[in-house]
Amino acid sequence: MAKTQANAGKPDRIESGLLRRINERRLFEALQQHGPASRAALTRLSGLTAPTVSKAVESLLSRGFVEETDPIDQAIGRPGKLVRLATASAVVLGVVIDVGNCSVAMTGLDGRVTENLTSRFATPTDYPALLDAIEAQVRAFVGNSFDRLRGIGVSVPGLVNDRLGEIVFSPNLHLLDKRNPARDLADRLGCECLLLQESYALCLGERLHGAARGLDDFALLDVEAGLGLGVMSGGRLLAGHSGLAGEIGHITVAPDGLRCGCGNRGCLETLATDAALARMLSESVGRPLRLAEAEALLAARSADFQHEIRTVTEHLAIAIAAVINIFNPTALFVHGRLLIGNPERFERVLDRVKQRTLTAALADCAIHATRSSKRQGAVAGIIHQLTSAWAPSFG
Ligand SMILES: [Zn+2]
Repeated sequence: MAKTQANAGKPDRIESGLLRRINERRLFEALQQHGPASRAALTRLSGLTAPTVSKAVESLLSRGFVEETDPIDQAIGRPGKLVRLATASAVVLGVVIDVGNCSVAMTGLDGRVTENLTSRFATPTDYPALLDAIEAQVRAFVGNSFDRLRGIGVSVPGLVNDRLGEIVFSPNLHLLDKRNPARDLADRLGCECLLLQESYALCLGERLHGAARGLDDFALLDVEAGLGLGVMSGGRLLAGHSGLAGEIGHITVAPDGLRCGCGNRGCLETLATDAALARMLSESVGRPLRLAEAEALLAARSADFQHEIRTVTEHLAIAIAAVINIFNPTALFVHGRLLIGNPERFERVLDRVKQRTLTAALADCAIHATRSSKRQGAVAGIIHQLTSAWAPSFG
């Protein structure tokens, strides 16, 4: 009996520690959503009491997650200081490994990616050179202030097996097969690095900064290099047993079609993507075109390539219809350049989607071009990881 009493205070202490972190996370999320705010505004936005907000802000300040700043308009009286997500005292990096090009972007904990803090380089042809290039870019950005670096999100194409903790297979970038660049970068740089499948990264980016803000049920289709799918259902990403769910790109649509990067023939991604259209244009003009060159060619002479545009439009509509019919999302975001990035061609895709989708499912679903990017997604991913490690989210 005496023993029970001696331990009686312990669960309460654990509970209050957890409660404190949950409150801190709630404030962090309010700042993510609304931008810099005074303590009074945070009290209103969070629904917490003023003393609780005050305590939580002090704790966030002491750990460098937020900073104080002066309000822009100081004309009226002496307004209190604003609290904002740390941008001077803490940084995160987003690394995007992709077919053709890679990029590294640095942001504060507000996660706002800018062009002047982004560097790009052609994807090296072997894995050690890739790690060298990323490490060099990271060191150039961070310099001597590694203490400010909270973590790095690494977006990768391919099948990421969560249980094995590696990319088991990357159909369009085989140098990543059986690799985990996040783990290897963590070893080189000594900081937390998170591996993110690129469709998942895009979902997180769109949810934090794009048009999916506040949505718990949506799907995202990436149609640039491969055909990737992320499905957010009830606020959780559909992962499957090992994190491999969503590989819609490797559904066979042309049994005797072209060889796909996965080894099969006639996969949907050989016919429905920007890469597929760029390949068809390359064949038509008789020289290999990069995506940007294909984009320029379409801008100048799209009338000459109507057959190629129609073929990819038709297959992309089939892909979009499949996602809507199977998952019944409230919104579908499509990430692409050649068809989705051009309003007129995007309209033609949507027109074909109407023909291919069950009317009831289509009526539930708004289709948008994404506003986010893989860079934004990689950054959103590491920020999400940092806050999740800190306390669970309750909405
Ligand atoms: Zn395939």
